[in-house]
Amino acid sequence: MTALPGPVSPPPRLLMGPGPISAYPSVLRAMSSELVGQYDPFMTATMTETQELYRQVWGTANEATLLVDGTSRAGIEAALISLIRPGDRVLVPVFGRFGHLLAEIAERALGEVHTIEVPWGQVFPVSAIEEAVVRVKPHLLALVQGDTSTTMLQPLEDIGALCARHGVLFYSDATASLGGNPFEADAWGLDAATAGLQKCLSGPSGSAPVTLSERAVEVIGGRRRIEAGIREEGDEDAPDFIRSNYFDLGMILDYWGPRRLNHHTEATSMLYGARECARLMLIEGRDAVMARHRLHGEAMLAGVQGLGLVVFGDVAHKMTNVVAVEIPEGVDGDAARSAMLADFGIEIGTSFGPLHGRVWRIGTMGYNARKDAVLTTLACLEAVLRRHGASVPSGGGVDAALDVYAGAGA
Ligand SMILES: *Cc1c(COP(=O)(O)O)cnc(C)c1O
Repeated sequence: MTALPGPVSPPPRLLMGPGPISAYPSVLRAMSSELVGQYDPFMTATMTETQELYRQVWGTANEATLLVDGTSRAGIEAALISLIRPGDRVLVPVFGRFGHLLAEIAERALGEVHTIEVPWGQVFPVSAIEEAVVRVKPHLLALVQGDTSTTMLQPLEDIGALCARHGVLFYSDATASLGGNPFEADAWGLDAATAGLQKCLSGPSGSAPVTLSERAVEVIGGRRRIEAGIREEGDEDAPDFIRSNYFDLGMILDYWGPRRLNHHTEATSMLYGARECARLMLIEGRDAVMARHRLHGEAMLAGVQGLGLVVFGDVAHKMTNVVAVEIPEGVDGDAARSAMLADFGIEIGTSFGPLHGRVWRIGTMGYNARKDAVLTTLACLEAVLRRHGASVPSGGGVDAALDVYAGAGA
């Protein structure tokens, strides 16, 4: 008989990739708190409290602010399946892997999907999005804010007004960026936005914060009336739509709303974790958290440049929390990454699609947007690069990062 395994015992790791990243210790502690029943007054009060915390995280007064249980793509799928009816035109500007994911999910929702693209490493000028909106006349614009595959941050501040002018619903996937880069759901005119915990919010994956404007809630409500066979005037010919139960935001809203109508059993430990992620961000202060991500992102950027590495993409539009560097000529990228993990316990990221084998991605987010984490990563990367055949300036990475910290008085 084979022996049963012992209790789970993960090795010490410093997760410096594009996500998932190390959780704040207090998030893990919150998640080990005692369970209560799903209608226990403590449970419902904690849900209400968490909704209020996430309104502040998103920068919104949206009543419909809640968590979808599942990883970030559960939030994406809930939003898209609930907002798109078969045949609805959907415009997806694609600037990396996650734009392709939005297009794929919108297609599975049987939307008529139109994409525009820029080369990886760039973002869209507002004019290009407006031109496509005028041409396609979409029901919904679905746009990633920060795409970890390319490290780019698409500016969103003018897109909401553009969508409002053309009567288009505006959805954004802010999974990679929320908590480390500004996001203002109301001021920027978002109708729907979704995220996850495992990037700048520094929790485990498994809960997807979602916020919906009143207009989005009305669209979802209208669709439910059609589904129930109560078609309104003008809707007589409306086609059916994908009828998910788990991702039906109408039902999920009834569960999180004052009526507390049973849907799923809210994932209690994830709720505790999500609440703690938001609480930590707001206690530190939204502006202070952004400034911290900016500082450590700049230190890492200066550090990799100090090691003589070439940074990928339009650095002016880079997210604060992740940088992509070209793997130096002659270095086996996978072997070097494995050595970072095996010899130093540090994880950095590989890449997808057109960047596979070309760049590594290094993150500085949430709990790991920290001076010691940045300096340790740079020191170890220097050692690994040298052992894998690259000629690197001795101490160049750590010194450049320390100069950034000295300049900032940090
Ligand atoms: C990391 C990331 C996701 C991850 O989705 P999961 O379902 O949590 O794996 C989604 N969207 C973007 C933009 C991301 O960067």
